Amino acid sequence: MSNMKTAVGDEALRNTSHRLLKERGVTMEDMVELVYILQSPYYPHIDRSDCLHNIERVLEKREVQNAIITGIQLDILAEEQKLMPPLQKIVETDEGLYGVDEIIALSIVNVYGSIGLTNYGYIDKIKPGILKKLNDKKDKNIHTFLDDIVGAIAAAASSRLAHRHFHTH
Ligand code: MG
Repeated sequence: MSNMKTAVGDEALRNTSHRLLKERGVTMEDMVELVYILQSPYYPHIDRSDCLHNIERVLEKREVQNAIITGIQLDILAEEQKLMPPLQKIVETDEGLYGVDEIIALSIVNVYGSIGLTNYGYIDKIKPGILKKLNDKKDKNIHTFLDDIVGAIAAAASSRLAHRHFHTH
């Protein structure tokens, strides 16, 4: 059972999660691009402001903010070589059988139901735009958790967009 009282205020969590995304190189435009890629085949008339609006709403959710600060913290600790073995190696090499990065990302997708899951699976497979950049392991940065989180934010925003704007007619 969780204690629903919150020790950390809404503003602190919100500001930190938004700042961390930016510091780790993920812009709103990057996420807009992902949502657009996911949704434009189905809804050719969507525009980028619809995508942006839905991303902003997703980023207001406490579940989403918790996933962001947890995942990015683990990526940063791995970069600093501060995780215990064998977790250090697992996160550092983005070990294929680990799967906890995906589980944290699913806590974002779950907020918006089952369409989100389909979107998440799809975008994780094709890895467009920023996801490709986060995944190329050419620099010193580790984004084992962040790539899944960003994919999940885009998937959740896509589901939200589909639910709210287009299933009403
Ligand atoms: Mg990953």
